[in-house]
Amino acid sequence: MPGDTFILALDQGTTSSRAILFDDQGAARATAQRELPQIFPSPGLVEHDGERIWQDTLATAREALERGGVRPGQIAGIGITNQRETTVIWHRDTGVPIHNAIVWQDRRTNDHCEHLRRDGHDTLIQARTGLIVDPYFSATKIAWLLDNVDGAREAAEAGRLAFGTIDSWLLWNLTDGAHHATDATNAARTMLFDIHRQCWDEDLCQLFAIPMSLLAEVRDCAADFGHTRSDLFGAPIAIAGMAGDQQAATVGQACFRPGMIKSTYGTGCFVMLNTGAEAITSQNRMLTTVAYRLAGQTTYALEGSIFVAGAAMQWLRDGLKLIDAAPDSEALAHSVPSTDGVIMVPAFTGLGAPYWDAEARGAILGLTRDSGIAQIVRAGLEAVCYQTRDLLLAMQRDASASRDLSLDVLRVDGGMVGNDWLMQFLADILDVAVDRPVVTETTALGAAYLAGLQQSVFPSTEVIGKHWRREANFVPRMAAGERDRLYAAWLAAVARVRTVA
Ligand code: ADP
Repeated sequence: MPGDTFILALDQGTTSSRAILFDDQGAARATAQRELPQIFPSPGLVEHDGERIWQDTLATAREALERGGVRPGQIAGIGITNQRETTVIWHRDTGVPIHNAIVWQDRRTNDHCEHLRRDGHDTLIQARTGLIVDPYFSATKIAWLLDNVDGAREAAEAGRLAFGTIDSWLLWNLTDGAHHATDATNAARTMLFDIHRQCWDEDLCQLFAIPMSLLAEVRDCAADFGHTRSDLFGAPIAIAGMAGDQQAATVGQACFRPGMIKSTYGTGCFVMLNTGAEAITSQNRMLTTVAYRLAGQTTYALEGSIFVAGAAMQWLRDGLKLIDAAPDSEALAHSVPSTDGVIMVPAFTGLGAPYWDAEARGAILGLTRDSGIAQIVRAGLEAVCYQTRDLLLAMQRDASASRDLSLDVLRVDGGMVGNDWLMQFLADILDVAVDRPVVTETTALGAAYLAGLQQSVFPSTEVIGKHWRREANFVPRMAAGERDRLYAAWLAAVARVRTVA
């Protein structure tokens, strides 16, 4: 009966764990959320408590079911989506982690990555995994745990330990250890997975000295991941969907055709371009990754990220105290006709794609005695748009080498996209239309769609595509000369902060 079937999406993010109950039309019916404490053992190190992640996930799942007034029997399936790359290793017999989870942002393996690059391993790593050598990905984090936790290497070699990204960790707990599995999108972020052959890579495991017995079985994004332990929700529920957060958002935005592109603007910004069945090796330091794998068919994507997007607004609010709240930036940006040449390069933690300059630091350039709060805040918003253009140009260069991918529309989501001024400036600087959907909870929605596909709640990606609804559309209206002038000034500013060419 329509309206009587639900899907539960578990969205385990970097700063919070959430559960959202969706109906069979893709509408959210109930939500529960818990903030996740960040553990900073020393500068550059970021950890999470794995047990806390599991307990919060379980608690929010129960809360969402209760709030929605839904019985387990009405849930067609659970979809899991998660912060990617974050690394947990646990004991197979007790299910207890050997250490806190090492979060994707953690830089403790910088030196290891330096060595890998210096020894020329980056070419092989990129060819097999599509990734740039960086502490961001799981492999060097796993190696660190094996080398630094007492007895870990021995136990791993004896097959007594399991590694997982957060998806696998949650699945293990949901199924009481019956399933040690992951999906192709999460596997693709470990730096151990051959994205072309779709299997764990023996050479890379050897290079990182990681025993393959640690690794999970890799399944499609819509697949049978087993059932929840019956005592968790009162009855077993099928776990049927899984994808990393940005890939889930790509599904939630229904970017199912080559050339379709989505950009998520939260703390940072993640752009993903669907390149179809072809894994395009980037010549411009983008990542090649798995967008999703359905029925054994892999769809690839080019991915680029901006480390600081909404985080610049947080800094203007909390650090400089120029604004009371992030949404204030919209009226301030409107209040001046331009930044009068002020440019902010928010490279607080280095520059990501396409520059990958870890040592670069932020700058505000072009200040005069007339520069005020409005110009600086506007410059912070503009920077998000210039960086998106950096990414799109690099992706277009990569993609056009093999096919003609004309980007005519960018689908956006995330906390910043409520800012209409920002969306218009984005369309203007990109010279590409920007579409904002009705449902901006695209990450959780994508996980629900994947579970729904497996459980036949949604018959096909075509049908899911028809559920996508536009809430607002921003059309470029800036003159080309103005766009070129502003973007050239941005590039000149970036050149001033870069430490490597
Ligand atoms: P995340 O999922 O990364 O925690 P969200 O998608 O919830 O982030 O987005 C929150 C971010 O968006 C914050 O960094 C905040 O500063 C920024 N933000 C929220 N609303 C606005 C707005 N109207 N204008 C500009 N930035 C905003």
